[in-house]
Amino acid sequence: MIDITHLEKYIKRAIELGAQECKVIDPASVVSAPWVRLKCQYGCQCYNTNRSCTPHTPTDEQMRKILDSYSSALLIRFIGHEKVNEVVVGLEKEILKDGYYKIFGFGAGPCLLCDTCDMDKCSFPSLARPSLSGCGVDVFATVKANGFSIEISLENPSEGDCYGLILIE
Ligand code: SF4
Repeated sequence: MIDITHLEKYIKRAIELGAQECKVIDPASVVSAPWVRLKCQYGCQCYNTNRSCTPHTPTDEQMRKILDSYSSALLIRFIGHEKVNEVVVGLEKEILKDGYYKIFGFGAGPCLLCDTCDMDKCSFPSLARPSLSGCGVDVFATVKANGFSIEISLENPSEGDCYGLILIE
């Protein structure tokens, strides 16, 4: 794991950019599970509507291999999903400049960058990021394992907790 003192400035930066909380975590503590994609396929209106959601994202098995190829991660809590991807991408670019060349971020929910997603070729590939749950991550178990809480609001999703993840090496 990267020395936490080298990553503390990114925690502060995540808050400055609009996150509620941010922690350095071990990617091994991120829980992936095959049932998560079922929840996308049967029950989510975003399924197959954009490139950041299933079935266009890595499977839980692929995601496990991705997670296991990193030693550190930032888990970031937001209220609502609207800002998540923008902050994740912004922070990712700043951390990349410091030499962590493997860095990659995951957002929450569908990509909102275009009015209609171009399913053949992404219009903004450097800005679009896959949804964490769309990659088979059990977000509830992951945040609980790392001491975060999660409250969802079915009536108003913009008031619920949403999480982004940045893998760092
Ligand atoms: S940037 Fe546009 S084309 Fe690319 S994933 Fe997002 S909505 Fe789809």
